Amino acid sequence: MAARARSVARDPERRRAALTRQRAAERPRPRPRPRRELAPHPDSPVVELRNVSRTYGSEPPVRALRGVDLVVQRGDAIAIVGPSGSGKSTLLNIVGCLDRPTGGRCLIDGTDVASLDEDELAALRGRLLGFVFQTFNLLAHRTVIENVMLSEVYRGGDRTGRRERALEALERVGVAERADFLPGKLSGGQQQRVAIARALTGAPSLLLCDEPTGNLDSANTESMLELFEELVAGGMTMLLITHDDSVAARMPRRTTIVDGRLTEHA
Ligand code: ADP
Ligand code: MG
Repeated sequence: MAARARSVARDPERRRAALTRQRAAERPRPRPRPRRELAPHPDSPVVELRNVSRTYGSEPPVRALRGVDLVVQRGDAIAIVGPSGSGKSTLLNIVGCLDRPTGGRCLIDGTDVASLDEDELAALRGRLLGFVFQTFNLLAHRTVIENVMLSEVYRGGDRTGRRERALEALERVGVAERADFLPGKLSGGQQQRVAIARALTGAPSLLLCDEPTGNLDSANTESMLELFEELVAGGMTMLLITHDDSVAARMPRRTTIVDGRLTEHA
């Protein structure tokens, strides 16, 4: 130690480096921003969009959403139907906290997304939202149960009981007997059930589904819709995007989006 100290003192290069380190250690650190509480606010709507617009700054600019108002209460199940290019993905990205509006306000569980930085948005996504996609998005080289457990790993949840919770979620959607299979060995309908089980771990406030039956045949679509109806009967809140009117017809609330304008049907 003494020899090392001597050599630092003698070598101007190392002395400068040591001094820089010391100064850096002494510099006052910026205080970390206080973490906002992102737990669900039970009295707020799950989603509240007020006059939301999203204009892409392309040349020419594209007004993908124009003055969208939507309130999703706890337990609501809402279909959004619209043709290609009408703004469905843009809307889902905003509600899913993957993008921000360029006008208006978007509140998720009472929190205005404009007040959150990127880390806080990611935390909110992890805590409050479950995503289901048309293409299932399962990891091909992980077993069914590993796919479900991984969503908790990414969220940083409690390790103990992770396997049991994943198995419970798989039971809830009726594919627990396939827990140790690779996704490729399952039918499309079973894979989508696994994706739903994955989305349900962590008890999200809102399940966001983007064309969840888009890759399923009619028999699997029917059984998927029955599963959604069960989840909704159990109190799940859902926003489902589809271009299939017969799928939308099974949701208690139906809206249409055309040219970035949302209309609700009685
Ligand atoms: P949908 O999901 O209903 O097919 P989108 O929300 O993807 O519609 O797109 C709505 C409109 O915004 C379309 O005209 C599309 O071309 C345009 N759009 C989407 N993303 C971008 C982008 N990143 N830059 C410019 N225009 C975009
Ligand atoms: Mg789309």
